Amino acid sequence: MRIQYFGVRGSLPTPGKSTIKYGGNTTCLSLNADGRQIIVDGGSGLRLLGLELMKLAFGRGQGEASFFWTHFHWDHLMGFPFFVPNFIKGNRFKHYGPAAAREVLVRQQAFINFPVEFSQMTSQHEFETLEPGQALALGALNVTSCRMHHPAGGLTYKFTHEGKSMVFATDVEHPAEGLDPELLKLTQGADLLIYDAQFTPEEYEKGRKGWGHSTWQKGMELARAARVKRLHLCHHDQQHADAFLEKSILAPAKKIFPRTFLAREGWGFDL
Ligand SMILES: [Zn+2]
Ligand SMILES: [Zn+2]
Repeated sequence: MRIQYFGVRGSLPTPGKSTIKYGGNTTCLSLNADGRQIIVDGGSGLRLLGLELMKLAFGRGQGEASFFWTHFHWDHLMGFPFFVPNFIKGNRFKHYGPAAAREVLVRQQAFINFPVEFSQMTSQHEFETLEPGQALALGALNVTSCRMHHPAGGLTYKFTHEGKSMVFATDVEHPAEGLDPELLKLTQGADLLIYDAQFTPEEYEKGRKGWGHSTWQKGMELARAARVKRLHLCHHDQQHADAFLEKSILAPAKKIFPRTFLAREGWGFDL
C-alpha cells in the first residue's frame, strides 16, 4: 500500500516558520491499495490532497474514493469544504465511520458557517456507519477497528493489504496504568503504527490527563508490546516547533525504539 501524509498537526493548523519542516496542516492521510483511493480524516491537509486528486480522474468527474473518519473533532474535518473534488459532478465518495458522519458534515457547511451547503455540492456521497471491531473488505483491502479513547469516542483503524498492515491511532489516550488492551490487540504485529504523541510525558502529567491524547513514551511502549515494525509519531501539538519535536519527542523515543519517525506533511512511502 502507498501512504502519504497531508496533515500531521493536532488540534489547529499552525502555519509559520517554526513548523515548516513537519507541516502545519491538521490530520489527513492518503492511502492507495487495491487500486483504491482511501482518505483517512479530512483536516486542513485534505485541501492539498484534493488538489493532487484533481490532476487525476477526480478532475474529470470520474473519481471514486472512500473516506474513513476517526471522529468528528474540528481539526479532523475542517478541510472537507475546501476539498475541490467535492464540487465536480460525477465524483463519488463513500464515507465510513462512527454514526453521525453525515449530520456532522452537513452541519459544518450550514450557510452561516460556509457559503456552499453540503446539499449543493455536485458530487455523490454515501454513508455507512461502522461499529468498533467490525470487519470490512474493500476488494483485497481489509479494514477493522477498535474504540478510540477520546472525548466523544471514535474509531482507530487497521488497514491490511497483501500481508502488510497499518494502524492509524491518532487522538487516543492510554489508560492510567498499562496499555489499552483493545488497541494492543488491534496493533499486534503491525508493519506500521501511526500514533498520537501530542504531549511529552511531562506535559501530560501537568494537567492534560483526560484530554484524549498520548505521549511518545506510551507509543513506544505499545510499539514494543505489539511488536510493530515501525512507529510514526503524529498529531503534533500546535505549540511544538520543529526543533522541539526533534529534541523532545523524537530523540528520547528513538533511543528506546530506534525505528521511530516523526510523521511529516507531504511524506509518501510504500508499505
Ligand atoms: Zn485531533
Ligand atoms: Zn480529537
